[in-house]
Amino acid sequence: SPQCKTSGSDVANIKTRAVKVGDEYVVNGQKMWITNGGKANWYFLLARTNPDPKCPASKAFTGFIVEADTPGLTPGRKEMNMGQRCSDTRGITFEDVRIPKENVLIGEGAGFKIAMGAFDNTRPPVAAGATGLAQRALDEATNYALERKTFGKAIADHQAVSFLLAEMAMKVELARMAYQRSAWEVDQGRRNTYYASIAKAFAGDIANQVATDAVQVFGGNGFNSEYPVEKLMRDAKIYQIYEGTAQIQRIIIAREHLGRFKK
Ligand SMILES: Cc1cc2nc3c(=O)[nH]c(=O)nc-3n(C[C@H](O)[C@H](O)[C@H](O)COP(=O)(O)OP(=O)(O)OC[C@H]3O[C@@H](n4cnc5c(N)ncnc54)[C@H](O)[C@@H]3O)c2cc1C
Repeated sequence: SPQCKTSGSDVANIKTRAVKVGDEYVVNGQKMWITNGGKANWYFLLARTNPDPKCPASKAFTGFIVEADTPGLTPGRKEMNMGQRCSDTRGITFEDVRIPKENVLIGEGAGFKIAMGAFDNTRPPVAAGATGLAQRALDEATNYALERKTFGKAIADHQAVSFLLAEMAMKVELARMAYQRSAWEVDQGRRNTYYASIAKAFAGDIANQVATDAVQVFGGNGFNSEYPVEKLMRDAKIYQIYEGTAQIQRIIIAREHLGRFKK
């Protein structure tokens, strides 16, 4: 069940263990919230290989490639989530799962750095997804505002509604520039941690604001599942949670920002 989880934001608190036995590692533990958990042919697994609690995170974890059909590996049921319900999200149980040592990524103890470094590449596309959701919400709201009439005119011609659309457009355009900047930094071969977290945090936040505003523009219809925007509002929420929460992004942005000033 979701209650089993221990790590989440606190990645260094991962409890899943891998113990070296001969030419293999034997893994025991549970993972929660694995996107494509029931679909993937193989997984990236981060497990603790050094049991000493004093061992720093930068050395205590190892990254593995695990074939999905390895004996002892069992995906749970598809979780029922608020939004993004087409996405297959599952817990996975590891019971004496034996992984050949050839499946270790880079080397024993290098896993934490690999996992943290991966976020620099995954946050820009997640921010792009959030921006796309916000764009769709703006498009739907705009078309609706041009059609729906109250007090003898289209609601888009009420200044309060048009200004709401203007605010939504500002947010969508800036989120797009933010994720493109963060992706462009990767293309330039530069460390993009700061830009990736800004893009992910900003796009996740504005996707929620813009989707909520789109529901507002639709009025009562916005609250109804026959119209597209209530789904967008439900789908938006996860962008403030996965790939590092909105709060974790601010921790990273502050650390990166202050790091540039500290001597
Ligand atoms: C649909 C879905 C798909 C997912 N897919 C994957 C996946 O494929 N692979 C994977 O590994 N994970 C995946 N996750 C897990 C996801 O990354 C975590 O849920 C997320 O990082 C938050 O961790 P948590 O749920 O343990 O929340 P917690 O860490 O318990 O956080 C709870 C709250 O406390 C806040 N918080 C925690 N620590 C701090 C702090 N130091 N300072 C300030 N605030 C803090 C958080 O921001 C949050 O608001 C997925 C989750 C979901 C819901």
